[in-house]
Amino acid sequence: MDNLLINILFVLLPILIFQIFYINIDSKYKNIILATVFSISTVIIMNFPIENYEGHLFDLRYIAFVLGALYGGKKVAIFLYFVVLTYRFYIGGAGFYIALIDSTLLLIILLFFLIPKYQKYSLKTKINVTMALLGVVAIISLIICHTFFGFILHAPIVLLSSFVVAQALTMGLSVYTLEYFISIDTMKKQLYHNEKLKSLSEMAASISHEVRNPLTVTRGFIQLLKSPDIDDNKKDAYLDLSLQELDRAESIISDYLTFAKPHVNVELELLNIAEEMNYIANVMQPYALMQNVSITKECFIKESYILGNQKQFHQCLINLSKNAIEAMHNGGKLEFKVSKENGIIIIQLVDSGIGMSSEQIARLGVPFFTNKEKGTGLGTMVAYSIVKAMKGEIKVKSKMNEGTVFTIFLPESESRLSTDKSYL
Ligand code: ADP
Ligand code: MG
Repeated sequence: MDNLLINILFVLLPILIFQIFYINIDSKYKNIILATVFSISTVIIMNFPIENYEGHLFDLRYIAFVLGALYGGKKVAIFLYFVVLTYRFYIGGAGFYIALIDSTLLLIILLFFLIPKYQKYSLKTKINVTMALLGVVAIISLIICHTFFGFILHAPIVLLSSFVVAQALTMGLSVYTLEYFISIDTMKKQLYHNEKLKSLSEMAASISHEVRNPLTVTRGFIQLLKSPDIDDNKKDAYLDLSLQELDRAESIISDYLTFAKPHVNVELELLNIAEEMNYIANVMQPYALMQNVSITKECFIKESYILGNQKQFHQCLINLSKNAIEAMHNGGKLEFKVSKENGIIIIQLVDSGIGMSSEQIARLGVPFFTNKEKGTGLGTMVAYSIVKAMKGEIKVKSKMNEGTVFTIFLPESESRLSTDKSYL
């Protein structure tokens, strides 16, 4: 009984291990991992047979074999076939010849009948077919034992039938578990995809709304300009306002495009992080002065590079700095801190502004989340998608009425641009 449980454990364990990797790896390695974990488990299973009856081992090795074959494909099937036979041969005993017949039979059924069609079956069919297969193989092997070794005559019938039942049931349970994990993974991917589509379409709707306002305003001014008795001062003012409104429309559209396709068709270059931070600090200076904010800089690195698009990187930092400055209604201090740790560049934006509650932090990066009267709620979202495209990460810490720290982590790049274009 103990060994039955060990057998079941080592059928289920590879499924658990496999599902951890299933989500994060590409298919090339998937099969190698599958073949490895299932061959280890067949070997362990054979070491703990449920019964060793006159050199005939009763164990659940074929479940691991069938699972590996059905989910890994033909190559994994052939590999596992040899693992099972080699190890069974090494253990020795009359049972080897039975194993040879059983596993060859299984391999033929798997290669020519089951593997080509299996993935198209419904869950119910998958469970039924595999349970039937393992049940039938167990019975066939007992019949062979009986015919060639006469051994069934001595073995208790309870042992034989409970082995057949245990094998079929465990098979069904394993397929169910594995399919369950796979379905969760598929669901997650779909959810993510839908979420992205949803926000894209929500954005498209609001973009057209947002762009219409400046266009209507501009149209009004142009109409006013047409009237003959308008003085030059007014003319200038109308033109300025029209230009401002058009700029606003333009920036909304470019924000949207950066979010929708942050890393398509952009030129990547090596960016000297110290120089870029200098640039940002200078660019933000006038805006900061207007709000009574002083900017300071602490840069502990000189010759460090990151790979990215300069315009987008600027946009990301400008969006975040703008928010920081806007959070300091009565003036304050904005600090840029740049350092490096284990090949990761760390950029911090520390402000002494109004801060955010944890609910606000949780909603950062979501389109249209804004607490400002004239806000668009696009700034942080764009910053997040740019950093993500650069294979980086943003973390936020904040305290109400004390201030906020945005920390950006970016992988440092060697000065070999040509070798790393993996995210082009
Ligand atoms: P917008 O600036 O147009 O409102 P953002 O996406 O840039 O849109 O910012 C969303 C919201 O996040 C802001 O309205 C603000 O409430 C909050 N926020 C972002 N950065 C900060 C910060 N440094 N301090 C306080 N609040 C912030
Ligand atoms: Mg903003």
